[in-house]
Amino acid sequence: MLVNAGIFTAVLGAACTLVSAHPHAHKTRSALPGDWVQSEDHPVYELFRRTNLNKRQSNSTANSTSGIPAVGSSAWTALYPQGSADTSNLPAAWTNALNAAVAAGQIPNVPQSSLVNGNPTYPNGANSQDESICSGNGGGPGSCRTNGSIWDAPDGMVAIGFDDGPTQFSPTLYTFLQQNNQKATHFMIGVNILNNWQAFLTAFNTNGDDIAVHTWTHPYMTTLSNIQVLGELAMTMQIIHDSTGGKLPRFWRPPYGDIDNRVNAIAQTVLGLTAIIWNHDTEDWAIPSGGQTLDGVNNNMQQWLTGPKSPGLIILEHELYQQTVQAFMTNYPLMAQNGWKTVSTVVTTNQTTYQNGTLVAGDSDNAFSVSVSTTSTSSSAASSSTASTNSTATGSGSSAEASGKSAAVLRAQTPSMRVMTAVFGVVAAFACASL
Ligand SMILES: [Zn+2]
Repeated sequence: MLVNAGIFTAVLGAACTLVSAHPHAHKTRSALPGDWVQSEDHPVYELFRRTNLNKRQSNSTANSTSGIPAVGSSAWTALYPQGSADTSNLPAAWTNALNAAVAAGQIPNVPQSSLVNGNPTYPNGANSQDESICSGNGGGPGSCRTNGSIWDAPDGMVAIGFDDGPTQFSPTLYTFLQQNNQKATHFMIGVNILNNWQAFLTAFNTNGDDIAVHTWTHPYMTTLSNIQVLGELAMTMQIIHDSTGGKLPRFWRPPYGDIDNRVNAIAQTVLGLTAIIWNHDTEDWAIPSGGQTLDGVNNNMQQWLTGPKSPGLIILEHELYQQTVQAFMTNYPLMAQNGWKTVSTVVTTNQTTYQNGTLVAGDSDNAFSVSVSTTSTSSSAASSSTASTNSTATGSGSSAEASGKSAAVLRAQTPSMRVMTAVFGVVAAFACASL
C-alpha cells in the first residue's frame, strides 16, 4: 500500500499530535512483507527498507522486493535478540534521539523504582502517586494517570484486546475471533513474536487485527534505566515494523500497568507511542496459579457487562494461557447480549492504529464520534473504576502475574544483539519533534 510522501508526512504529524481523524471503511490489508506503507521517494523508505536492512542482514532469503528477510526465516530471526536487548549496542539513532530528548528536558528525572515484595518502589520513600512521579500503580483504582495515556473507552463500548501474545494458545483465540467477525488489538511481546511468528501472521494478516507494543521481554518498566526502556519499546516496534510491511505501532501497554512520567515521556517523546491502560481487570492471568478462577472471572464480567455503560470498558485480558482464552470466549456473547458495542481496543481511541499510514484494521463499521480524555495526573481519576476494586484483592497481584509469566516469556538468554536499523529513533524524533 503506497502513499505519497506528502500524505505520509502529514499522517506522521497527525499521529504525534494525536488528533488525526479516525478513518473508516478500511479493510484492506498489506501483504507481508514487501508491501510498504511508505512511498519509495520518501526518506523513511530509504532509511528503513534498503540501506539499513541491507546492512543488518544480507541474505538470499530476503524478500527481493523489500530487502527484508521473510518472517520466520532464519535470517529474520537473526535480526533480533532472544532476550533483553544489549543496550550498549543499540542503533546510534535510537540512543541519539533519547539523549536529545533528555538534553531538551523532555524526560522527567524520576528515579528508577526497584521491586520490593513484587511492587515497584521508589527510593527514599517517595510516594509513587506524587504528581512528579505519577506511577500507574498496576492499573488499580485511584492510580495516577500519566499524561496522554488512555484508560477508558467511550460510553457503550467494550474494548477487545489481549496482552502477552502471541503464544501457543493464541490460535484458538484467533479462530474464535475470526468466526465471530470480531477485530481485536494485540499488545504483543517482542520475543513472543520471534518465537510464535506463525500466530503473529495470523493475527495481522489473516484476521486483520491491530498490533500494539507490550515491550520486548515484559519487564517492570519503571525499574529500568532510560536506555533499557528505549530498547524494550523500540526493539518491539522494530520487529513489528519489519514484519508488517513497514507499519510503526502507535500504541503500547506497560506490563503490569507499570508506567510513570519518565517511562511515559520516553515512549511518547522519543518513539511516538501512546499508552493504553485499562479500567477493569478480570485477573484472568491468575487462574493457572490459583489466584483466580474461571467462575471468578465470569462473575466480574457479569457484573461489569450488566453495569453502567459510562465509561466504556477497557478490560485487561490475556492470550497467555488456555484458561484466559477460554474466559474471554465464555463471556464474549454476553457483551452483545447486554447491549455493548465490541470494537478493537485501538478503535476506542479514535486514532489510527499505526504511526505511518491510515489503515485501521479494526475499523470497518465502527463509525463514532468521541473526544478522548487523555490527560490527568489526579488520583481522583478513579471515577471509572466503580467495579474494579476487586482487582486489588490479591494485594500483590502484579507479582503473581510476573512469576507466572517469566518462564513463558523468556525462553533463551542469548543477548547478542545484531546490528539494527539505524534510523528508527530519527524517524520518530523527526515525526514528533519537528512536525
Ligand atoms: Zn502482560
